[in-house]
Amino acid sequence: MRIGVDVGGTTVKIGIVDNYKILDCYSIKTNKDSLFDDIYKSIKEYISKNNINVSGIGFGLPGSVNNNYIKALPNVGLYDIDLKEIHNKYFKDINLYSTNDANCAALGEHLNNPKYHSSYLLTLGTGLGGGYIYNDKLVIGANCCTGEVGHMFIGSEFNFKCTCGLTNCLETIASATGVTRLYKLFSNSKEDITAKEVFDLAKSNDDIALHVIDTVSKALAHALANIQVTCDVDVFYLAGGVSLAGDILLNKVRKYYKEYAHYGVKDTPIEISTLKEKAGMLGSAYLW
Ligand SMILES: [Zn+2]
Repeated sequence: MRIGVDVGGTTVKIGIVDNYKILDCYSIKTNKDSLFDDIYKSIKEYISKNNINVSGIGFGLPGSVNNNYIKALPNVGLYDIDLKEIHNKYFKDINLYSTNDANCAALGEHLNNPKYHSSYLLTLGTGLGGGYIYNDKLVIGANCCTGEVGHMFIGSEFNFKCTCGLTNCLETIASATGVTRLYKLFSNSKEDITAKEVFDLAKSNDDIALHVIDTVSKALAHALANIQVTCDVDVFYLAGGVSLAGDILLNKVRKYYKEYAHYGVKDTPIEISTLKEKAGMLGSAYLW
């Protein structure tokens, strides 16, 4: 069996996986001070309680990681962690694998839809991440940055500053943060509103909310059209909290994509992730 760990800012999801299926899963709280010891202790307990054989443990991490060395998990507030060293404290004889969480979600969704051999998944959450699968394999890139499409330059209409230091990155618009930021801008209001509330308003035909959805859809469609002339994948998947807006977002992204995409790739299907929050667990269990 395989273990896939999806580390999030508030919870960690741990899946026990075999034959491309999640057989069991549980979650624990993300506690910054003892995060990886908490995870490993719980896995050790699970393995001994259920008496299972494990071939490896894979991690999907919300930040930058290279060769099992974690450079930064900004949402958790952890930096410079040698994951291999912690792993060896608990499981010397079980292999360790890790990459960022969007890569794992992309791989998980891809494995769940075997009719396609290449795909690109965008996770639209607080930020925006991506993962690229080519010939059924995850593409990481020379600097582990292949999926960093959240920081693709997308136009200069708003000049929103991104957390990465650049301006006009895709994630300043096409993320939960972007949705609320746009709503406040268009409504000239300082009141707090969640992305879900904006979608609910859009569903009841609120003009400002519909304008937000339109703006987000255009930015996403632009990005997909750009991605597609370099990657040329079989299918795009949208995942994460913003994708839960469903058809109201999806139909507009599809419409604008047809307008912006090169004629050779106009018919690429764009779908909402079916595995949703479970994709990361499945993908992290197949990093080997
Ligand atoms: Zn950026």
